[in-house]
Amino acid sequence: MTTLLLDGKSLATSREAILKKAVESLIQQGARRPILATLLVGDDPASATYVQMKVNACARVGLGSRKIEMPASTTTEALLAQINQLNADPDISGILLQHPVPGQIDERACFDAIALKKDVDGVTTQGFGRMAMAEPAYGSATPAGIMTLLRHYDIQLEGKHAVVVGRSPILGKPMAAMLLNANATVTVCHSRTRNLAELVAQADIVVGAVGQPELIRAEWIRDGAVVVDAGYHPGGIGDIEKIGLENRVSALTPVPGGVGPMTINALISQTLDSAKAAQAAEISESIGS
Ligand code: NAP
Repeated sequence: MTTLLLDGKSLATSREAILKKAVESLIQQGARRPILATLLVGDDPASATYVQMKVNACARVGLGSRKIEMPASTTTEALLAQINQLNADPDISGILLQHPVPGQIDERACFDAIALKKDVDGVTTQGFGRMAMAEPAYGSATPAGIMTLLRHYDIQLEGKHAVVVGRSPILGKPMAAMLLNANATVTVCHSRTRNLAELVAQADIVVGAVGQPELIRAEWIRDGAVVVDAGYHPGGIGDIEKIGLENRVSALTPVPGGVGPMTINALISQTLDSAKAAQAAEISESIGS
């Protein structure tokens, strides 16, 4: 069996070309250049790199960005005040609070302080709830990017058994809800799951979102499965072992170049959507409808 490579890097590149035209056309219609605000708290170098990658992607498609960096000693109150300021700023279309924040900060309270209409990274409880109910909402960026990748490659989800390994608020849980909305039958595994290998062996689609290098073993995965690896560890290693999968599974995301670029693409695409929605609201307000 030839394994289809789910190439997130090339899909993100081609989608950026479309986004760039859409940003220009929005501006030609008289809108302000949309701006993504990025909030980085503390000095974790990996987080700083992720933020910079998002800022660079904004620049490539013509979106503005406003980088806000706060010290590791930041309190929940100070971060909430900053978020509220951005919520109130009409120039800001989207707010990205880079996860994780230092331990003394109530991360959930800060995520939930982001105005729903600016929650372009899909991290609020309300946004999650709306997405899970299949109501309009910005999806959590990583699973939203994965869904775009699966749709692009015409991966059939309906009636398939998807096994998601990991249940974090930004990845595993929203991934499971999105797959369920796409009519897959979903099993969610986590650190207390007893028979992980057996469950993974039943999957038509496996999503690795555990944050541990190659925790999911190639030998567990059945022939013909679709393998999506959200993990990224030094040396280009994912959460799923790849040796032995090539030519045995039907489709596979590379690491790097699979899920990562699609995460950033979902973020910038949702920032543009937010800007468009704000412009439509401004127009209808100005004509009094
Ligand atoms: P996280 O918050 O640390 O969550 C990890 C999840 O894995 C938890 O639900 C945990 O279970 C589960 N888990 C841990 N050990 C396990 C085990 N032995 N067996 C089964 N489940 C286990 O991580 P995350 O933020 O969701 O990230 C997951 C991975 O995705 C990481 O590799 C991260 O780097 C990557 N990631 C990539 C992107 C991207 O853009 N490419 C974005 C975000 C994350 P419990 O809930 O029981 O603790």
